[in-house]
Amino acid sequence: MTLRTPVAALFCLFLAACASAPGKSDAPATTAAPANDQLYAVSWQQDAVEYEATARSVYVGARRALAPVVQWQQQAASAPDDEARATAANQLGNWNAMPMAERANNDTGQPLAIILDADETVLDNSPYQARRIDVDALFDPESWSAWVAERRARAVPGSVEFTQWAAGAGIAVFYVTNRSAADGAATADNLRALGFPLSEGGEERLLLLDDARGFGSDKVSRRRLVDRDYRVIGMFGDNLGDFLGGVKTDNPTRKRRTATYRDWWGSRWFMLPNPMYGSWVDAAAKFCDGAEKDDARACMRRNLRRE
Ligand SMILES: [Mg+2]
Repeated sequence: MTLRTPVAALFCLFLAACASAPGKSDAPATTAAPANDQLYAVSWQQDAVEYEATARSVYVGARRALAPVVQWQQQAASAPDDEARATAANQLGNWNAMPMAERANNDTGQPLAIILDADETVLDNSPYQARRIDVDALFDPESWSAWVAERRARAVPGSVEFTQWAAGAGIAVFYVTNRSAADGAATADNLRALGFPLSEGGEERLLLLDDARGFGSDKVSRRRLVDRDYRVIGMFGDNLGDFLGGVKTDNPTRKRRTATYRDWWGSRWFMLPNPMYGSWVDAAAKFCDGAEKDDARACMRRNLRRE
């Protein structure tokens, strides 16, 4: 593709006819797009101050939202009078970030925890995406594992400071990621080198994709495992599946399912931007009928709103 695209562009210049001419044809422009047209998305995540500001805003806001929960827990245990302890316990009892359908436990005596996804939530894999642009190729497991093995992902802005604050405040920090169990050691090394809380021997807080343990790509079972022993007070992700199960569906369904939780964004649930990939792509591109059914780009383009 690196050769094909410039040649095609040059040809178009000579013919001056490749772009659709308004008024002459109602047909959409048929300029072939490369298989991987993520240039804007990757450039934004790597270099735009706008991306850094957004990510930092999420994590600074999370600390502001969750600091009172830590105080409630302390007051519920050790406030000097019964009234203050009961009030704090009540506030704490009303604060739980687990989705309703997954929540099994609401014991205010449990230790506090947060659950963070890894990729594009705390680890920035945009260099991997850049390399895929270089070879005009999409994600594949082999190249991905090679990138993970390098242990060179950088931290998403604000994420190290936030998780260190959380650990220092006594909140257990769990990472629930769809990186494979085989990539676990490299992932742990990468996280630790960046300063994320994950003690040596504390790998039970890094919950990877692992069929042998019943941990499928749907993260429900792993969230439930954390919920069993902890009060989950905040969840962090770049993908709706980091918060809810059953999200591999169409956009109207996703919007309906998240409406219940609308007030949780920025208070219990914290979403990082990821314009490069995610379940949103399938939701936007794979639920068309007719000719666009098997053409993700055509489907996505048809569904753009013009008013
Ligand atoms: Mg992710």
